[in-house]
Amino acid sequence: MPLIKVVNDKCKGCELCINACPQKIIRLSDKINTQGFRYAQVVDKPRCIGCKLCALSCPDLAIEVFAEGCRYEFYPY
Ligand code: SF4
Ligand code: SF4
Repeated sequence: MPLIKVVNDKCKGCELCINACPQKIIRLSDKINTQGFRYAQVVDKPRCIGCKLCALSCPDLAIEVFAEGCRYEFYPY
């Protein structure tokens, strides 16, 4: 399973990653970070396909995706 790491305190809650995710598994947390923003979190990790679109779309470089050497198939919902 790919590992998605969101650095909560870098996130400004812009939702670009939420819109970019083809699996629609990113949501804003109900909690706020040290900047006062609700931050992005992956809510259904097993469905992540490791495409990295979330990380590429983040203007604040708040997301890292570790998926090297793995093969994942699209998981429709
Ligand atoms: S790597 Fe792709 S599927 Fe996984 S959370 Fe990011 S955008 Fe969604
Ligand atoms: S794109 Fe980046 S700054 Fe915007 S909600 Fe996602 S993680 Fe936060």
